[in-house]
Amino acid sequence: MRYVETAPGCDLDLSDNTNLWGVPPSAQRALANADVSQWNRYPSAYSSELKCALSDYAGVDPSMVVVGCGSDDVLDSTIRAFATAGDSLALLDPTFSMIPVFAGVSGVSVIRIPPMTPNLTAAFAKAETKLTYLCSPNNPTGEVLSSTDIESIVTAAHGVVIIDEAYAEFAESNSLALVERYDNVLVTRTMSKAFGLAGFRIGFGIGATEIVERVESARGPYKVTTPGECAALAVLREDMDWVRTRAREAVTNRQRFAAELRAIGYPALESQANFVLVPVKDSAAIEAGMRARGIAVRRFDKLTSIGDAVRICIGPWPLMERCLDAFSEAAA
Ligand code: PMP
Repeated sequence: MRYVETAPGCDLDLSDNTNLWGVPPSAQRALANADVSQWNRYPSAYSSELKCALSDYAGVDPSMVVVGCGSDDVLDSTIRAFATAGDSLALLDPTFSMIPVFAGVSGVSVIRIPPMTPNLTAAFAKAETKLTYLCSPNNPTGEVLSSTDIESIVTAAHGVVIIDEAYAEFAESNSLALVERYDNVLVTRTMSKAFGLAGFRIGFGIGATEIVERVESARGPYKVTTPGECAALAVLREDMDWVRTRAREAVTNRQRFAAELRAIGYPALESQANFVLVPVKDSAAIEAGMRARGIAVRRFDKLTSIGDAVRICIGPWPLMERCLDAFSEAAA
């Protein structure tokens, strides 16, 4: 299955949960002033300088960090590192759509656990999989798993537990503390969302050194480009205030946007990410109606226990006002 791009023909793309405030100024400066004369050479094989900066950000030892070409690459490499054809991976359905794709390519089957399952921990334990994938805040719902649920799943699960925190910077809590206490956990993060660097393709994973080494071996060398590392280092060193301020604004706008949708009869799910999922009767009709007004949103058909829905990325308020107008017209 190939990923479907939704934005062609739209001048406002709210479909991919990237940072709609733009690229941090430090990254733009770093690239404008970069000495490119050495860029005929490969970057460092495993991005040692970036790993150090990310380990400072995460508060762990650099040996506990693996970077990749987006967190997609880290997730894909983790699946290939710990499961082979005939093994299985358990996840809560619905969740990030690329996981079944990566698993499928490796011949790994996916056990889908419905979120309403009365005893989630027992369900994951019973699945006896090589890998467990949790996503919190979850894409596409935006909902978080409680830290109690996460820890009891980590304790009960067989094999490695991936906790995908692509949207952690917008959430009230995260699971980083678990990587020091459990040697079967890999928390994955990305610089594509809050950090405003989606075009540079930088993701990372944090976990016990033995897990990181296996993921790195499966990943292979030279996955982060020299310009990508240059931009990422600049943001981590000089622009964390920019990142945190935009993330706070996204949270404020998300709450306001969700409240306005609820006020017109659309019960947006309780999100802790930089997007909201809005259940609708006919997602194809809403998507087409918004596209006709120049706005791309991500459409979902018949999601487990939700039904049709559209996912809308949160950005600066004037964009959200335009989106609200288009949504109410499209839904009318
Ligand atoms: N995990 C989740 C939950 C996501 O939503 C995304 C992006 N849509 C990714 C991982 C991958 O992001 P990237 O490869 O840009 O780091």
